[in-house]
This record gives sequence, structure tokens and C-alpha cells, in this order.
Amino acid sequence: MSVPAPRSSIMSLKPYVPGHSGADHNAKLIYLCSNENPLGASPRAREAIIEFAGRLASYPDGGATALREAIARKFGLDTNCIAVGNGSDELLEMLAAAYIGDGDEGLYTQYGFLVYPIAITAAGGVAVCAPEKDLRVDVDAVLARVSEKTKLVYITNPGNPTGSYIPFEEVKRLHAGLPAHVLLVLDAAYAEYVNRNDYAAGIELVASAENVVMTRTFSKVYGLAGLRVGWMFGPREVVDVINRIRGPFNVNAGAQAAAVAALADDAFVARSVEVNTAGLAYLTAELEALGLTVSPSVTNFILIHFPDQDGLRAAEAERYLRSHGLLLRGVAAYGLPGALRLTIGTEDANRKVVDVLKQFLSGHRTS
Ligand SMILES: *Cc1c(COP(=O)(O)O)cnc(C)c1O
Repeated sequence: MSVPAPRSSIMSLKPYVPGHSGADHNAKLIYLCSNENPLGASPRAREAIIEFAGRLASYPDGGATALREAIARKFGLDTNCIAVGNGSDELLEMLAAAYIGDGDEGLYTQYGFLVYPIAITAAGGVAVCAPEKDLRVDVDAVLARVSEKTKLVYITNPGNPTGSYIPFEEVKRLHAGLPAHVLLVLDAAYAEYVNRNDYAAGIELVASAENVVMTRTFSKVYGLAGLRVGWMFGPREVVDVINRIRGPFNVNAGAQAAAVAALADDAFVARSVEVNTAGLAYLTAELEALGLTVSPSVTNFILIHFPDQDGLRAAEAERYLRSHGLLLRGVAAYGLPGALRLTIGTEDANRKVVDVLKQFLSGHRTS
């Protein structure tokens, strides 16, 4: 007797395990594990959702026209070059599904998003990983792994969970080194938080090339992770391809309405970035003062390294923090067992993290 069998490579995948999130609704816990906006979402987005409650029986606009136009206006782009997705995850997956065939290779980097190898493998491709150098994308290592079979390259910039970035000059050098038929996907989920003159999310490169797309999300600085909305800017041809394979109503009506409202609330975004910038500086300085190593970050999270690289110390710290109501993200799945990822929180939450880690370190002194 035979049973339905998937493509064999799919059984080699491990399901993506999300961190805990505020959706758990445990008021006793502070969720600093999923890079969610600690300020919540714009009140305008909330109003849009309340209004949407009166239209639940109607299908969404399948073309997401109002949302794509709002994005185009905000960023000065052509509406026809924008596609939206059920989170940027969906766009990242659809790109692999469209451009990778059986036996083709998709490239990603050592600490790149775990979604990439899943998307490449699910599409029937072979996921090829390029090592990073000092927790940063290494352009030469990526270029060295391009083969005749390579169809797509995913770069997270800034990186997660590293918090690092590569300057736009490096992104351009990477692009210049790729054959014209390879699609370069720039995942810029944290672009809004970056405050560096030499960083660019990639809009300029997309506009001047035929093989580059940039993905963005409403899940981070806009605080709409629960609604699942992401967008992509790419050549018309690539957007056309996505339109052929996506579900006809892939972004729901409430998500579209809330995203339009969130885009209009510049003050909320500005305040979110401000709180993050202050928290990032505070936490980096305070945790270093405690003797911990913190990777420099341009995002809304930091990677904290504990001295014992086997991860015992990090795991112990994670448990200790949890017992004090603070949830951080273990990053062993990214090959970093000795580190924890901490999302920048509110001022109160950040102070609590420092206090609890101070207790942890003083109570656990090995000397
Ligand atoms: C959070 C995040 C995203 C956003 O995913 P959504 O599906 O839009 O919520 C994309 N890429 C990376 C690297 C992220 O950390």
C-alpha cells in the first residue's frame, strides 16, 4: 500500500520554531524575544481595525491598491513595482518558489534568516550557506559560492540575529559580482532603525538593476506583526511573476487597512525609533559595564554573548531571566549557543533586564 509522499528533501527540514510573542498574553511576562515594537502599534492602525470589524463579510481588494499606492507615495516608488505579502515571509517564500527549480541552488549566509533555507528547499532547490566573518555578511564568501546553478541570493541587511550591517558599497559590490540571471533579494526588515550614513536598504539598486528586489515589513517598527503584512519593491517583471503565483487575496482586508493607517502615522514611527535608539545605547553600555560582550547593533535588538561558548551560561541566564518575567531569545538554532538575543524594550523593561542580569552575574560568579 502506498501513501502520498512529499518531495524527499522536504523531510530533511525542521519546522521553523518561532520565539514566544506578546500574543501569548501573559501579563506577568515581558516579551523581549521576537523583536516586536514595545510601544505596540499606532492608534490609527487600531482604529482602522475597529472600522474593519464592520466589513468582515467582504473580500479584500485582491490588488491591495490603496496599500501599494500608499507605499509608493511614501517611498517615491512606482506602484507597479510593489507587491505585498502575508508578512514579508510570504514574499521571501514566493521568490524561491518562482525562481528556484529542482536542483537549482539558493544562497544565504551563516546567520541569515532560518526562513531562507526552508523556502529554497521547499521549492526543490539546494540551500547553500556562505560563512559570515565576525558575525557580518562576507561579500567575498558569498561570491565564492555562486555556481552555474545559483538562481537566488538572500541577504539580510541589517542582519538578524547579529544586528550587524554591511554598507551600501558592499551590497553594490556583491551585486556587481553576481551573474545577471541571479536574483539578489535584500531583506531589509530592520531598515527603519538604522542610523548610519553608509547604509541603504536598496531602493536605489533595485531601481537601477533588473535582478534585485528589496523586502520590507510592517511587523517591526510599525508594530503590526500580528496582522502579517510585508511588501517588496522590485522590477516590474519580478512583481508580475509574484502576481501570477500569489493567492488572489494573500493580504487580508484588515491588514491592508491597518497598514495604510500605520504608514500615515509618522509621529508613531519617529517615537518608536527614538525609544529604540535610546534603549539600544543604554543597554549596550550597561551590559558592557557588567562585563558582557554585546555585538554592535543597528537594529531593535542586541546579541549578548556569555563567556561560556558551550552555551551553558547563556541557557542558565535565559532561565534566570525567565524566572524574573523576562523572555529573551536563545539563538542556538542559528549556531550561537553562547548568546541570547534581546529585543530593545521600553525604558522600564530595559532597566529591569540590566538589574536582573546584574543579580545573575553576581550570584553566579565562578571565581
Ligand atoms: C522579522 C523579520 C522579517 C519580517 O517577517 P514578517 O513575515 O514580515 O513578519 C523578515 N526578515 C527578517 C530577517 C526578520 O527578522
